[in-house]
Amino acid sequence: MMTLLQIEKAARNFGGLKAVDQVSFEIESGTIMGLLGPNGSGKTTLLNLISGFLTPSAGRIVFNGRDLAGARPDKIARAGIARTFQLVRILPSLTLLENVMLPAVFGHRSHWGKEADRVARAALEKTGLGERASASAGDLNYIDQKRLELARALAAEPELLLLDEWLAGLNPTELQEGIALIRSLSGSGIPIIMVEHIMEAVRALCPRCAVMNAGKLIADGETAKVLSDKAVIAAYLGD
Ligand code: ADP
Repeated sequence: MMTLLQIEKAARNFGGLKAVDQVSFEIESGTIMGLLGPNGSGKTTLLNLISGFLTPSAGRIVFNGRDLAGARPDKIARAGIARTFQLVRILPSLTLLENVMLPAVFGHRSHWGKEADRVARAALEKTGLGERASASAGDLNYIDQKRLELARALAAEPELLLLDEWLAGLNPTELQEGIALIRSLSGSGIPIIMVEHIMEAVRALCPRCAVMNAGKLIADGETAKVLSDKAVIAAYLGD
């Protein structure tokens, strides 16, 4: 297995607060990893460092052999990392197809013309929105907005997908659909790092998970082992 992403002593301070404190881990191509931790432990900040929405205070973030630490989000997207946001960032005044065309054209692979259309429609198909390509994104309900957000990430044809609590807020039926969708993406070979609070989803999807607490990575390994680790349980219960 080839190392896809290598994070070496990544750090981010906000004033005196060490939001991400010397975090190191690697992921290989073709894997799916859960990123857990109590609220405020630094998970979103870490995703922001990987995707370029925040600049690291220190450390290296090497993707496919290139150090991308401090690069801008558009450069990192073109290098092949796509992400979703906790608060969806869709374009409500555009159609679903237009929403996915933009990343198909300006994302990692930069498709044009018919090829962009094919890739964009395929991204809608994968997320169950294929029939509604010409609907307005502003008319979507919550789960479909989440699906569209994911479709936008897929339309960039990423080599690494970062999900920030993509399953949050779904009802039990939608949650099962969402888990199945992520499983199918992972099964098709897209490497995924998913920040997730829903343990059922982590157990179902992630053979490996890492746990953050107060900015530090306190555990990283096989999910069943990590979730029964004393330090991990203590972090969730509060020190
Ligand atoms: P999590 O995603 O695990 O809930 P975050 O990464 O959002 O945690 O936050 C980690 C810590 O960094 C928290 O203490 C949070 O208040 C702080 N933090 C996050 N973003 C900022 C920011 N832009 N400015 C100042 N503090 C921040």
